[in-house]
Amino acid sequence: MALAHHVLHLGPLDNNTYVLACTVTREAAVVDAGFEPEAVIEVVRRQGLEVRLLLNTHAHYDHVAGMREVQEAVGGDYWLHPADRPLLDRLSEQGAAFGFPPARAPETVRDLADGQRIPIGGESVEVLHTPGHSPGGVCFLSGDSLWAGDTLFAGSIGRTDLPGGSFAELERSIHTRLFTLGDGVRVYPGHGPATTIGRERLDNPFVGERARLA
Ligand SMILES: [Zn+2]
Ligand SMILES: [Zn+2]
Repeated sequence: MALAHHVLHLGPLDNNTYVLACTVTREAAVVDAGFEPEAVIEVVRRQGLEVRLLLNTHAHYDHVAGMREVQEAVGGDYWLHPADRPLLDRLSEQGAAFGFPPARAPETVRDLADGQRIPIGGESVEVLHTPGHSPGGVCFLSGDSLWAGDTLFAGSIGRTDLPGGSFAELERSIHTRLFTLGDGVRVYPGHGPATTIGRERLDNPFVGERARLA
């Protein structure tokens, strides 16, 4: 048995929102909700899911702005790594910098920690702290699936020029925490299409083998 997952491509920055669900208990987690929260709410209702968790890979506006609306509609405890708390506290200012409207943070913030295992019904995800794109960036691992936020993309990596970003840190996170997971692990990023650890370990032009040869 594994986590079922629904992928929604939402908003002007092609953000991915993932709804992970235990197929036995129908308990669910929403991973990142920035734009168009009504589309997330509709999937939850149509699938008859019980949202227990709202998990953020990091606290950039495009991943958080819709969380409060999802929480008010379908519930769920909100979780974020504490190193991204300063970003959450400046949610509306972050949005304004990119011309987006003000947004409210979710109610009651719970702290994610590296190595923590979070149950979703009869399944669970493990938290991997992968700073570099932002100080509190995390990935969620379950079996051979990884929800990677803006840490690793198909053929790219998260930008490191925003406050708290560091290329050296991001490269270390990806090399030591992600590339060691095994080539068969499927990667579901915060933007754009899915990929695999194997493909990125070889071909990623920023952090893969190819980057070292260039
Ligand atoms: Zn981001
Ligand atoms: Zn993003």
